[in-house]
Amino acid sequence: MRLLIVEDETSIAKFLREGLEEEGFAVDVADNGKKGLQLALDGIEEYDLILLDWMLPGLNGIEICRSIRLENKTVPIIFLTAKDTVDDAVFGLETGANDFIRKPFSFEELLARIRVLLRTKENEVIVFRAGKIELNIEKHTVTKNGKTVELTQKEFALLEYFLRNKGKVCRRTRIIEKVWDIHFEYNNSVIDVYINALRKKLDEPGMPSLIITVRGVGYKIETEV
Ligand code: CA
Repeated sequence: MRLLIVEDETSIAKFLREGLEEEGFAVDVADNGKKGLQLALDGIEEYDLILLDWMLPGLNGIEICRSIRLENKTVPIIFLTAKDTVDDAVFGLETGANDFIRKPFSFEELLARIRVLLRTKENEVIVFRAGKIELNIEKHTVTKNGKTVELTQKEFALLEYFLRNKGKVCRRTRIIEKVWDIHFEYNNSVIDVYINALRKKLDEPGMPSLIITVRGVGYKIETEV
């Protein structure tokens, strides 16, 4: 899952980025309105959710939100706002935002709201299964035969991406877009390292791997396993 934060206050942006990365999200940050809109509309990067500050240099959050919706993009948007009257909140939602949260906010509350919007988007699937592996989005856990498997955040994000796309070939370029942030330099060997680590933790010795290599293209998990 890849998120975009548009926020000019460096300390808030850093706090959000670190917290969300710890939760396994790939996170890009734009520190002004123009850059934020450019990233949001850029066809290459497809964000799963955008956190949008209201007061920004360049373009403000309202203008950005309107422009995104004018392009028919349905990406969920949460406004981060210091404004605290009801009218402002209604105005924010009328521009096409899905939710808003007032500063100062607790990270836990923001995270809960992010998960609600992502869940709606993904048809409320909370638990994914493949063979003896079970991944629970809400509890942020992975089990094999009912026993907990300890994964790093990136390993978790990678497995989640494969499971959400079960039966489909996940191309390496798409994997990078969804699991790593914009500063990641394309590097096949890094993906290989993570795939190997995942296989070691998830596979049974002597049995075919859960994650199948599709030569020259990417990876997939079969629908029937
Ligand atoms: Ca601001």
